[in-house]
Amino acid sequence: MRPELRDLAVRTAVEQGLLSGGPPVLGLLDVAGIRASAAALRRAFAAVTTAPVLHAFAVKAAPLVPVLALLRSEGIGAEAASPGELALARAAGIEPARTVLDSPAKTEDELREALALGVAVNADNPQELALLDALLDSPPAAAASSSPLGLRVNPQLGGGSIGALSTATATSKFGFPLADPGARERLVRAFLDRPRLTRLHVHSGSQGMALTRMAEGVRAVYELAEEINAAAGCSRVDTVDIGGGLPVDFTGDDHTPTYEEYARLLKEHVPGLFDGRYGLVTEFGRSLVAKHGLLLARVEYAKTAGGRPIAVTHAGVQVATRTVYDPVSWPLRVFAYDAAGRPRTGPPVAQDIAGPACFAGDLIARRRALPLLERGDVIALPDTGAYCFTSHYGYNSLPRVAVRGFTADGPDRMSFTLVREAQSVELLVAEAGAEHRDALLGT
Ligand SMILES: *Cc1c(COP(=O)(O)O)cnc(C)c1O
Repeated sequence: MRPELRDLAVRTAVEQGLLSGGPPVLGLLDVAGIRASAAALRRAFAAVTTAPVLHAFAVKAAPLVPVLALLRSEGIGAEAASPGELALARAAGIEPARTVLDSPAKTEDELREALALGVAVNADNPQELALLDALLDSPPAAAASSSPLGLRVNPQLGGGSIGALSTATATSKFGFPLADPGARERLVRAFLDRPRLTRLHVHSGSQGMALTRMAEGVRAVYELAEEINAAAGCSRVDTVDIGGGLPVDFTGDDHTPTYEEYARLLKEHVPGLFDGRYGLVTEFGRSLVAKHGLLLARVEYAKTAGGRPIAVTHAGVQVATRTVYDPVSWPLRVFAYDAAGRPRTGPPVAQDIAGPACFAGDLIARRRALPLLERGDVIALPDTGAYCFTSHYGYNSLPRVAVRGFTADGPDRMSFTLVREAQSVELLVAEAGAEHRDALLGT
């Protein structure tokens, strides 16, 4: 998001009173920015292959129905990893044929639903594959299902810089391992025994993963597809799902790396995958939305302790969970604005930006050099469109924050539209079991 757009969004949000009435914290999404990223994704892959490509947005990055509907209008489908995410994709009108199910722990009911809908399924392990066999071999599912079926493969190439997000280590919990003794032969056999398996899936990890490492994962799976097809004597594997994982630069406003760079690098590393013989599925999440999110929060109090200035705000662990629990891996920039929403000026002072939760580590930033924040000021956290305010964390019964989309109507005019209401206190109480108040009191 350009600095002028960010400044306009903050000022207009304050002027329109969006930070007043209710908890003064708000998630904003740049609608035109999301559209532009979707278009860049489509262009990048259209430039490297003539085969069909389904871009399936990883719903977990921004599980909001209006966001999924916006992406759908840009030709983007959905990657779901739970029954809830699948339901969100359906609520957004995303067609089953443009939806991929990758839940790591699919229940039998979930598989039945996916097969009945015709959603693509990537099986994670031999037991899930056996369950799929049983479901498909017992009528009437077999005749009815149009679901493309594939196996998720872990190329076991090693991790990236963020352990919790490294999905391709030797012992990762995801997928069929490729490098374990005998594993490759078993995978080839699984395809030879089951003509209905037509896809391979790999997602080597997210953020902190070098692009060349991700490309190696794709190459490993491509080579397996070639081996399967040679053994089958036909193009049994016709589609390779290359996952998501394009990292986001949290240090500046540029989108680096770009989809174009990644698509070109993939084509260089794995030319055979792009010669038109293989359809592709992609599952990008954060790279489509992270840079288009902006979180605003009021400074409720400004204080000092041990000589350290501390701005106590309404943005903390409930909206920036990863940043608070793992600040080294997930640093966020902070911009300071005054109570009227104008950029705050003044000499930089090292200060902590604290959140509203009751634990000492609830800090968005430590010793951050910013103009000294005052009570009533506003902070803006850019790059928060993925896995932040859209992935609420229910600590301290802090409510889910409102989310609004914005569109600039001119150099200094902006309109906002509601994407998700803030969770009301009534709803919060209801979701905390209010209806069952006496449930533990005995009979
Ligand atoms: C999380 C995830 C993605 C999206 O990852 P991003 O880093 O947000 O692009 C894609 N595919 C699978 C299987 C995932 O688990």
